[in-house]
Amino acid sequence: MSNIDILVSEVGPRDGLQSIKSIMPLEAKKAWIAAEAAAGVREIEVGSFVPAKILPQLADTAEVVAFARTIPGLQVAVLVPNAKGAEAALKSGAHKLTLPLSVSETHSLKNLRRTHDQVIEEAKAIVAMIRELPEDQRPHFEGSLSTAFGCTLEGPIPDAQIARLAGRLIEAGCDEVGLSDTTGYADPRAVKHLTRLVRGVVGDDKLTGIHLHNTRGVGLANVLAALDVGLTTVDSSLGGLGGCPFAPGASGNIVTEDLVFMLEAMGLKTGIDIEKLVACRTILKEALPGEELYGFIPDAGVPLGFKPASA
Ligand code: ZN
Repeated sequence: MSNIDILVSEVGPRDGLQSIKSIMPLEAKKAWIAAEAAAGVREIEVGSFVPAKILPQLADTAEVVAFARTIPGLQVAVLVPNAKGAEAALKSGAHKLTLPLSVSETHSLKNLRRTHDQVIEEAKAIVAMIRELPEDQRPHFEGSLSTAFGCTLEGPIPDAQIARLAGRLIEAGCDEVGLSDTTGYADPRAVKHLTRLVRGVVGDDKLTGIHLHNTRGVGLANVLAALDVGLTTVDSSLGGLGGCPFAPGASGNIVTEDLVFMLEAMGLKTGIDIEKLVACRTILKEALPGEELYGFIPDAGVPLGFKPASA
């Protein structure tokens, strides 16, 4: 990460769009991605290689990747639910693949229809496909520990289970694991605890990022905790797109605009221009009429005399 301190990874085009009913037209997705990249965003999760009948919102992921790859300096990330999805992702030329592994086996069975052992087998199959590629064409492969902070079906997941699964993902050949608060259950103490626990198993260099939601209003507090323990990549979505049907007023992912403001105000360089970032919301408003957008900075503006770290 040259000349930035924290990598803000925009996940709105994947996590945000998959959580709403409206389908964003391909041209609007392209405009959104291009505008955020122009605002200085370095990594964008642009879609997911899932069957179109499951997530019609993301059916055009291959085309979105093809477009995003033409933007210089942009790291193009995608989610893959299994080896079949990864095959399509590799064909598309995405730079980063993330395979979610729900640490709650009940959640894993319900969402991916796979046991933990089966997901680990998928990870191994994906690694084998990646290793067939020439070294300079291999994407970064992350195993994401989803429902890490608790599951809506099982509640808290035992530490030992999370630690064991993190170890198994790395043994399977993942370059890195990530912590994902799929359910919005995290709190700052839990963020520190789980980061230390997993790093104790896989090493500091193999856990650098966290995926947070703001379901219970403590999303940015959780970011501070993540910074305290040395994490350097934070997922967020523009306008907190997606929301939470069970928590009116709560954004989906943490809001990119507010996250960038907090980091820059703290002297941490993100490389992102806040005014340009906020202007990207116009694309969402026009392409997704009726969908709620969240965030405080877009309404309140930055403080008078504000000096962003990246300026
Ligand atoms: Zn999420």
